[in-house]
Amino acid sequence: MAQRGRVVDGESPVTPVGDPAARGGRVGAHRSRTLQAVTSAVDSAPRRPGQAQPARAPAKDSSLTVIRPRTLADALAARAAHRDATVVAGGTGVLVELNRGALRPDTLIDLSACAELRGARPEGDTVVLGALSTYTDVLERHGATLPGLAQAARTVASRQIRNRATLVGALVLGDPSGDALAALGAAGATVQVARAGEPVRSVDAHAFVTAPGACALGPGELVVSITVPVADGPVAYAKAGARNAMARAVAGVMVALHPAARGGSACAVGVAPTAIRPERAEAFLADEWDRLADPDAARRFGALVAGATDPSPDARGSRAYRLHVSSVLARRALTRAVAAL
Ligand SMILES: Cc1cc2nc3c(=O)[nH]c(=O)nc-3n(C[C@H](O)[C@H](O)[C@H](O)COP(=O)(O)OP(=O)(O)OC[C@H]3O[C@@H](n4cnc5c(N)ncnc54)[C@H](O)[C@@H]3O)c2cc1C
Repeated sequence: MAQRGRVVDGESPVTPVGDPAARGGRVGAHRSRTLQAVTSAVDSAPRRPGQAQPARAPAKDSSLTVIRPRTLADALAARAAHRDATVVAGGTGVLVELNRGALRPDTLIDLSACAELRGARPEGDTVVLGALSTYTDVLERHGATLPGLAQAARTVASRQIRNRATLVGALVLGDPSGDALAALGAAGATVQVARAGEPVRSVDAHAFVTAPGACALGPGELVVSITVPVADGPVAYAKAGARNAMARAVAGVMVALHPAARGGSACAVGVAPTAIRPERAEAFLADEWDRLADPDAARRFGALVAGATDPSPDARGSRAYRLHVSSVLARRALTRAVAAL
C-alpha cells in the first residue's frame, strides 16, 4: 500500500514540531528509514496459506508525518503538540500493532535520534537507564550491577528483538507478563515520566503497568528513564513459557536477596492483571532468613507467592496451571538465590 510520507528530520537546523513546512524543517517527499521499515513490514508481513488479510482500520488520508526529535525538549514539545501521535522507540511493539491494522497513526514520533534518552549513568547506589536502553544494552553493559535485569533480559525473545526492544517499550505496552517488569519490581526500580513544562515524576516500576495493555502514562507524557538500585545480594529469575525461546512468560518470578538487611524481595509476572510484589512471601524471607536453605522453607515460600497471585486463564495456560507454576517457579528462584549467598 503506497503511503506518501512526510519526514521531519531531527538533523535539520531547527527541529520542528507540528507542520514541518511551516516550521522550516527539512521535509522530504522521501520516506524516513523508520517509515520505510513500517510500511514495508505492513505490506510484506508473511501470511500462512489460507490466512486472512489482517483487519485494518477504515481507510483514510494515508499521509504520515514522522517527527525525529534530537533533544529531549523537542521530544516533549512534539509529544505535547501531537497528543494522538504514536511514539516509537525500538518499534517491536508498534510494528505488531501496525501489522494487524490496530494502529493507523497520522504522526509518528521516533525517539531513536534523541541522544539524551540513550545510555546510562550511575547515581548513588542506582543506575539510571535512559529510556532507549535495550535488552542487549542491559546484557552487555549492566550484568555486573543489575544481574536480575540481565537474567530477565536473557530470556526475552531473540537476539534480533533484544537489540531493538527497549525496557520502556515493554512497560508502556502494559504487558503484565513482561520479564523486565519482574526484575524491575523486585529491585525496587522507579520509572521517570516527563511532560513539557512540568517537573519529572517517578512511579514505582511494579505499579507502572496498571492493567493488561494499560500503564501509568498520562496524555502528553514520555518516559525518560528507569532508575534501578544496584543489586546488593544474589538474585534469581525463574520463567515458564510454552517453549524455551521466543516465548512470553506463562509466569515468571524474580527473587532478590539483601543479606545486609537479612531479607529479600520478589516480584511475579504473568499471574495477575499486573505485576505483583507478594508481601507475605517477602515478609517470610526476613522472618525465616536463617532457615532459607531448608527445602521446606522454599516450598512454603512458593505457596505464599502462589497465594498472592490471581491468574486468568488464556491460551498460554489455565488458572490452575499458572497457580501451580508460580509456586514451583518461586521455590526454584529462591533455591537458586540462596545457593549463591
Ligand atoms: C517476537 C517478539 C518476542 C517477544 N518476546 C518477549 C519476551 O519473551 N518477553 C518479554 O517480556 N517481551 C517480549 N516481547 C515484547 C517486547 O519486550 C516489547 O515488544 C518491547 O520491549 C517493546 O519495546 P520497543 O522499544 O520495541 O517499543 P515500541 O514498539 O517502540 O513501543 C512500544 C510502546 O511503548 C511506547 N513507548 C516507547 N518508548 C516510549 C517512551 N520513552 N515514552 C512513552 N512511550 C514510549 C510506544 O508509543 C508504544 O506504545 C516480544 C516482542 C516480539 C515482537
